Amino acid sequence: MVYSPSDDVSQYQPANLWTSTPEYALTPGYFGRTPESSCSSPEYVSDDHRSTHQQPQAEQLEFLPFADWEEERVYNEQPPVYIHYRIDWKVTLNGKSIAQITEPDLVVRPSEFWQNSLKDAAERFKIRKVDHTRRVRMEDIIVVASVKDRTQQDLRQQDESTKIKWAVIEKQLLMWSNLFRLGKQIKLQVSINYTEDSNAALLRSADKRAATSVTKRMLAERDAQIDGENVSGQASAWRDVFRKIRCPGPPCRNRNGYCWQDPVGKKHYRLLTHHVKRLARLVERGHTFDTHDDMPIEIRNELYAEDQQWQERQHRMSKSPQSQGSGLPININFLPHSPQPPALATPADTPPTLPHSNPDMVDTLLIPDLPLDTAVKEYSCWQQSRVDSHALKDDIEKACDLALTNGLDLRQIHEDKDPEFFIRNGVKVGVARRFVNDIREWLEQL
Ligand SMILES: [Zn+2]
Repeated sequence: MVYSPSDDVSQYQPANLWTSTPEYALTPGYFGRTPESSCSSPEYVSDDHRSTHQQPQAEQLEFLPFADWEEERVYNEQPPVYIHYRIDWKVTLNGKSIAQITEPDLVVRPSEFWQNSLKDAAERFKIRKVDHTRRVRMEDIIVVASVKDRTQQDLRQQDESTKIKWAVIEKQLLMWSNLFRLGKQIKLQVSINYTEDSNAALLRSADKRAATSVTKRMLAERDAQIDGENVSGQASAWRDVFRKIRCPGPPCRNRNGYCWQDPVGKKHYRLLTHHVKRLARLVERGHTFDTHDDMPIEIRNELYAEDQQWQERQHRMSKSPQSQGSGLPININFLPHSPQPPALATPADTPPTLPHSNPDMVDTLLIPDLPLDTAVKEYSCWQQSRVDSHALKDDIEKACDLALTNGLDLRQIHEDKDPEFFIRNGVKVGVARRFVNDIREWLEQL
């Protein structure tokens, strides 16, 4: 509604006489449409204006009630009455920006602007971008309030849209009143983030592939069927759990980046595939898992017990470093070195991977519990989302097809670290290197 001026302007009736005072620059939308306001009495209006609003020079400014706000009007009261700010907002879908809009000058409460305008506008962009067969939900919104002043820190809020603490943001904006009076610009950056249900994404990627050739279409149909049968509900629960178990940060000795931080004692427990699997299953059945405090007791106990065993084993094996790691309760667990030494590799194929000489640096890959080929396809979709050029996207598709045709799964590709295989088969060198090297990066952003 608000963002299609062509609809709105025709309905506009100036509700407020102040539009005619010289203090307000009229926007182009007003030209030739407000003869009655130019007939009103400017003296009366100005006096009224001044008497009501001149005093609060040293006080906080205020927000204009949304009901009184006229979107097309420029509010440039002198001296200022309202706190003015700018919003740069964007809509993202699966992490990619699909719209970026600037609201150069707002005077209403951000919460009201969100509720009455921005939310619908974002939704419209989403609908325009996503056809009705795709299941997309609003993941969260991120709001960063800032003022152009070195002494002031940004204020950041991130939560589900219903839980954002707008009052905190509004209070901060009002507290910047004096800085605004000094001419410092206040800005809100709002990112409204949608995520496509990953099943739908998988089906769509199969569809996209289908367009390329008959054989591929047949394969895609088969894949879509397999995906639909095997993955329903599972992938999204996995994704959700993965996002929430990311390591909360240092100090942490676990290297796979997924931890449970015990609220008591703050110790980090490394989470492995089977933990995540169980957690995802519980979440599917309705268990709430929003923070580390929500870790189910049975998994906690398992983690404590495993940790105990691990400590004991470490103690026993402390004199035979060779065997370290072998007794870990790990589903997917390997050393990061290439099993075939890459001594004969051509210079072009020397990826900047640092070999871990420390034998107890075990590189654990947590791969979602998807069918192996589906995981390769998901990974390929992600790789494609990182490039713009169609040629590169096609090349990633080629690498994906090569992996699938040869039955390679992600763990094997990660272990082999063999871009040469893909290059020999016609994949461009950079694409091939990213394809073999970035699997961990993909897993970490899931
Ligand atoms: Zn950790």
